[in-house]
Amino acid sequence: MGFGYMGKILRVDLSSAEIWEEEIPDKVYEAYLSGSGLGAWMLYRDVPAGADPLGPENMLGFVSGLLTGTGSHFTGRWMVVGKSPLTGSYGDANCGGNFSPAIKRCGYDGIFFTGISKTPVYLRIANGKAELLDATSLWGKDTVETEKILIESSEKKKPRVVCIGPAGENISLIAGIANDRGRMAARAGLGAVMGAKKLKAVVLSGTEHIRVHDRNEVRRLSRRCNMYVKFQPPFVSGPMTAYIGALTRMLPVQFAQDGMLFKIMLKKWGTVSMNQLSAEMGDSPLRNWDGSNTDFGIKKSGSVNPDVFTDCEIVKYYCFSCPLGCGGICSTNDSKYERTHKPEYETVLSLGGFCMNEDRDSIFYMNELLNRAGMDTISAGHVAAFAIECYEKGILSKDDTGGLELTWGNTQALIALIEKMIHREGIGDILADGVKRAAQNIGKGTHNAAIHAGGQELAMHDGRNDPGFALHYSVEPSPGRHTVGSQLYYEMFQLWKKVRGLPKVRFMYPKFAKYKADKKKALMGAACSKFMNVVNGAGACLFGVLIGVHRVPIFEWLNAATGWDKTPAEYMIVGERIQTLKQSFNIKHGIRPKDFKISDRALGIPPQDRGANKGRTVDIEKMMQDYWEELGWDRETGDPLKDTVERLGID
Ligand code: SF4
Repeated sequence: MGFGYMGKILRVDLSSAEIWEEEIPDKVYEAYLSGSGLGAWMLYRDVPAGADPLGPENMLGFVSGLLTGTGSHFTGRWMVVGKSPLTGSYGDANCGGNFSPAIKRCGYDGIFFTGISKTPVYLRIANGKAELLDATSLWGKDTVETEKILIESSEKKKPRVVCIGPAGENISLIAGIANDRGRMAARAGLGAVMGAKKLKAVVLSGTEHIRVHDRNEVRRLSRRCNMYVKFQPPFVSGPMTAYIGALTRMLPVQFAQDGMLFKIMLKKWGTVSMNQLSAEMGDSPLRNWDGSNTDFGIKKSGSVNPDVFTDCEIVKYYCFSCPLGCGGICSTNDSKYERTHKPEYETVLSLGGFCMNEDRDSIFYMNELLNRAGMDTISAGHVAAFAIECYEKGILSKDDTGGLELTWGNTQALIALIEKMIHREGIGDILADGVKRAAQNIGKGTHNAAIHAGGQELAMHDGRNDPGFALHYSVEPSPGRHTVGSQLYYEMFQLWKKVRGLPKVRFMYPKFAKYKADKKKALMGAACSKFMNVVNGAGACLFGVLIGVHRVPIFEWLNAATGWDKTPAEYMIVGERIQTLKQSFNIKHGIRPKDFKISDRALGIPPQDRGANKGRTVDIEKMMQDYWEELGWDRETGDPLKDTVERLGID
């Protein structure tokens, strides 16, 4: 067995209650790393073509990162993989917290479930023994209660738990999986797969040693990384961020973004640092992708300026092995939940400006409600905005909504709608499976208001402001995701400092260059996809690597932890192989990559007549084709070409 990884996985067949270990050859780790790379390798190999995502043949895997537990920083993320019931494609989601090292301390790189249990169960690993236990009494409980009960009933030192809430149990296709009091691996609807398998939770206690090739070198690299994380000069006040956003919007030139600036903001406020800045500069989609900064200006967005979130922060929250701590535990005036996780930017915008809701306390409340239910806050905000637009246009009536007056900015109606979705009550039953299915169900031309990519609701980053987001929403094998690439991310990764041949971004460039679809953009987009596969294979946090690869040394950590001697360019080929394997999974399952193109409204078809993104349309067809070609996939269809598959050594 090599270093850095454990060399084996645990397999569980929930239909037969059989549990066994499987050894994974070293060459698989060298070719695909661990994390979502190992997950994709398992799914491609074992999920038969056409398998029902909610059926027994689908596989649900919880995978640790290759660097997790080796002494490297920012590398405590766990991945969940499976065929997505929301998109029918390869699906994954990842989350921080403390679950990733727990998988390895139980002696495994991943735990993979197939089959369907007859009754609710949970998997417990303790004292080196894995067993399925009855979860009937936990069924119906929310994620926070479930975790608390499982921890309190454990004889071992605090075990680590992932679980679903009522949304996953009710097979809501926008359900996620939670750990650490409601932190969510939210996307791709994998909570519904867990619910369909009747698997309530996974509870891990282990003490296995993680072998590291050169621990001193890993630590030396971590100390150097720490210098950058610690550097924290004073920064502007929260409300000032709105004016920085407005200035960015008005300038005719674009300044290349350096991750250190983002790091300073992240350390000061967390992701809520982006709330007003993004809304002002045109990065945040508003009012169901139909609004702009002119509808949700500085005065309205002032209610969610970053300071109001940190004002109620009791203590900072750090994921495992993170020196930065962008999270926070907060206390608000709301007496129902005394302590909650600080909402993320994505949540604040999707339940705020996206629904024209200005009430900060309601965002805290809905965030906690959704985290406890185990439902994706981004998707929930999208479905709510979709329903509001249908109501405002007279397509949905008060009878349809169960008496709710679903108008823009009606906070109480929004909360009530979210509650209906969680419990699949009335209109909530239709909405709980995402915007695509809701529009199919309601009909009457509502598909124009249902904004998604292949069924997955998009995140709170507007491709009309940064076309890179539109590209990655449309081309990633798990579509609609904001955590892979964009012009902004490419600038912050600074990959050209490590990988020869990648274009360097100039410090300042004319803004129109950002919107031009050309081959250079395809090269940059493909580089982001490849790199993020390495990052997700290592179990690293996107926010960490956005500080820049010359400051957060992912490639060097990988070599020091494993003893491999790969160049950054060779790691990028590993990332390319993982991307092509994920795309091959989709082709195997009958997906047509073209169908993942995002909805017209989010592309600026027709263009907006006001605001930050006025007059802009994304040339997505050309961008997708150039990207596919850059990866060695068919330019017209997006299918990986035979030569590419052979070159990458995919079996
Ligand atoms: S930066 Fe934030 S999300 Fe990333 S590992 Fe640290 S605390 Fe977790």
